[in-house]
Order: sequence, then C-alpha cells, then structure tokens
Amino acid sequence: LWEHCINQLKAELTSAEFNTWILPLQARVDGPLLRLLAPNRFVLDWTRKHYADRLLELCERHSQGQVSQLHFEVGEFARETSSTKGKGARAGSTATTAIDSDLATRRAAANLNADFNFDTFVEGKSNQLARAASIQIARNPGGTYNPLFIYGGVGLGKTHLMHAVGNVILASNPNARVVYLHSERFVAEMIKALQNNRIEDFKKTYRSVNALLIDDVQFFAGKERSQEEFFHTFNALLESRQQIVLSSDRFPKEVTGLEERLRSRFGWGLTVAIDPPDLETSVAILHCKATQLGVTLPEDVAFFVGRRIRSNIRELEGALRRLVANAHFTGKPITLEFAKQALRDVLVAQDKQVSLENIQRTVAEYYKLRTSDLLSAKRSRSLARPRQLAMALAKELTKHSLPEIGHAFGGRDHTTVLHATRKIKSLRESDAAIEEDYKNLLRILTL
Ligand code: ADP
Ligand code: MG
Repeated sequence: LWEHCINQLKAELTSAEFNTWILPLQARVDGPLLRLLAPNRFVLDWTRKHYADRLLELCERHSQGQVSQLHFEVGEFARETSSTKGKGARAGSTATTAIDSDLATRRAAANLNADFNFDTFVEGKSNQLARAASIQIARNPGGTYNPLFIYGGVGLGKTHLMHAVGNVILASNPNARVVYLHSERFVAEMIKALQNNRIEDFKKTYRSVNALLIDDVQFFAGKERSQEEFFHTFNALLESRQQIVLSSDRFPKEVTGLEERLRSRFGWGLTVAIDPPDLETSVAILHCKATQLGVTLPEDVAFFVGRRIRSNIRELEGALRRLVANAHFTGKPITLEFAKQALRDVLVAQDKQVSLENIQRTVAEYYKLRTSDLLSAKRSRSLARPRQLAMALAKELTKHSLPEIGHAFGGRDHTTVLHATRKIKSLRESDAAIEEDYKNLLRILTL
C-alpha cells in the first residue's frame, strides 16, 4: 500500500520535496490506520501540514477504503522494536541494521554517493588545502568557513570532496538534513516547481536544510531566474548559519554569466583550489584505486601510467580500469609492456591533446597575441612573459626535452627554456596574477 502511495507521490512532487519529506517516512498498516513515522518533529509537522490530505486520499484509494486514517509520530519502527524487547544479540543486530538502513535512506534522500568519502580520497599537495577545509567543515558545519567554494579543473575531485562532506555530516548527526545537487538539477527542479505552482514549497525545502552542496555552479550562467532563487536561498542559509558548499571549474570572480552579487558572495567564505595532481599523488591514487579493484599494480606500471596521464584523475581511473579489464580478459599479468600495449590509443590521444603547437596556440589566444609573435625574436615585455609561460607549460605538460622545446620556440637555446621555467616558478609564488594565468592555461590545456 505504502509503495503505491509513494510511487504516486513521486510522480507528483519535485524530487527535492519527495526526497526531503516523503522518503524519510516509515509506514505500517495497523487495521484501519496507516501509522507514519517521521525521523524528527520538523519533518512530521511539515508532512502532516502539506501532504496528509493527499496521502489519505491515496491510501483510501489503494486500499479500497480499508485504510481510512493517518497517524503521525516521531520515531522509527525497527529501533522501537529493539528497545521494547531490549535484550540479546538479535535485538542488538536489528537495531544496527535499522540505523544503517536509516543512514542509507537519508543518504539517498540527500543524493549522496557513499563511495565518495574521505577514506577513499588520496591526499596530495594539489588537493591538500581543499581536503583540509572540507574535513574542517564536515566536522563543524555552519561554523567558520561559509560558504566553502572549491574550484578546479574537470576530474580533479571536487564532487568527491563535496559528497565526503555531506556523508560525514549525515553520519555524525541523525537529524541533519543535507542536500547535494548539481546546479543543473537545481535549475530543473526549480522549473518543475514553477510549472506545478509549487515554488513556495521549493523555497521552503531548500531554505530548511542544514547543509546545501551545489556542484558546478558555472552552469548557473545565463539562468537569471535560477540565480535569483539561489541568491535568496543562499542568503537564508547563511543567515541561519547553515553550511553551504559550492564548486566550480573556476575562481568565483571568474564565473562568467553570473550576477555580480552572486559572484562576490560566493567568495565570502573560504575559497580553495584543487590543482592537477603531481606525479607522486597520481601514483598514490592509482595504487589506491587498484586496491579497490582487487589488483596490485607493479610500481613501474603505476609510474608509467601516472607520468603519461597527468591532467585528470578521472582519466587516470579510466586507464586503470582498462588495464585491469584487459588483463582479466586476456589472462595476462599487468607488466609495463602490457600496459604500454593496452593503453596505446589512450596515450596517443593524451599526447595529441598537449602538443607544443597546442600550447603555443592556446597561450597566444589567451593573451590575444599572434603565435608568430610568440615565436619571434621580439623581446618586448608583452611578449616575453607569455613566451616564458608557454615554455614553462611545455616543460610541465609534454615529454619534450629542453632543447626540443627551445627549438620549437623559434630556435631558442635550451638555457633560455631553463631560465623561463625557473623564472615562472618564482613568479608564480610572488605574483598572484601570473599564478592565476598559469593555472587558467593549465586548465584550458588539460581540459
Ligand atoms: P570533479 O568533480 O572535480 O570533476 P570528481 O570528484 O568527479 O572530479 O573526481 C573524478 C574521479 O576521480 C572520481 O572517481 C574520484 O573518486 C576520483 N578522485 C579525484 N580525486 C581523488 C583523490 N584525491 N583520491 C582518490 N580519488 C580521487
Ligand atoms: Mg564534478
């Protein structure tokens, strides 16, 4: 019976409403009574006020009039049983399962993936700050850093960290209400709510959470009505000291197509970057994922894959999966030779992605210069700096030697390239604009 009602409601409500108010309920038929248990007072009051009539209607219909009354209370069936019986190992284990399945339900309602947690997130220099801030927030939501804004290129672990934050908050507080949503889903939910005349419910739903995690906010670009709505949600949550975590592929101020007031507000709390992993981190991640897949990766293979696939952890994982699958089907051990063979086309694609030409063209475009000027002998400052950046990027992103890079940059000497890489390295530490440019270019080139 309850399942029928649930299915009907699922079709009628936005998924945020459904997940927040209906999914957490437990139901049991008791004669003419449908007993509904809500996890807390808040959900109980809200559900009774807004959905009781409709629920009763559905119950009566689906039970052919057998069930004619609703009874709401705060609590949980399984736990109730174990505490009334209150003895023995069986009661204990029932309680544990109940709590686990309760967590699973709440996790599903929050759209959280249980696999993305801090235990499975490998720490490295590139993600250290973002990870530390996320842990801090998970422990003390709504506290010091609000909002937390995580930015970085595709496949570097932003979504993973957001889920990890949500999972910890849910697990450590049984009453916490957490919602993770991709910004495009937020937009879609809002449109659905508008169409169904449920925008007030939509507002209430999002403004009453304890933690709101919105992924990839760059997709709010150009969607003014959604931005407006999100702006108010954002303010309401900040005011009531509830946690907000946002992610984007770029720095808050650089998210184009967003209203200025949103952009500046995004930067009010703490903004942290995730950079592409260095070699050591890539290798550590490979080992970690290999263990999860049940294989041990030889060190030379891990280094080979890590060195060749630098830009993106999702691709790193993809390559590993492919290796493991190939080894499985052919029954061969994963050796260096085997890896080179199995990953041939992936690596060709990678190499193509960051060729020297590609770097030169991208840097020239970025600074609105001509590639020919970048490669020329001209030494004006407006050319020299971009040129040095391009050479440093070439060193970082390709396998070419210093002389090869020098040659490709208008026949320069390898010492010029070496000087450029050192100069850029020190400038990145002292000059925020250069650092920003460098990271932007890195992101564009490794997309
Ligand atoms: P983003 O949201 O930044 O595009 P994701 O969070 O989706 O990236 O990460 C892509 C994949 O890489 C996911 O499978 C994620 O688990 C994995 N990943 C990213 N960073 C790490 C890390 N530091 N340790 C382990 N896995 C990671
Ligand atoms: Mg993501």
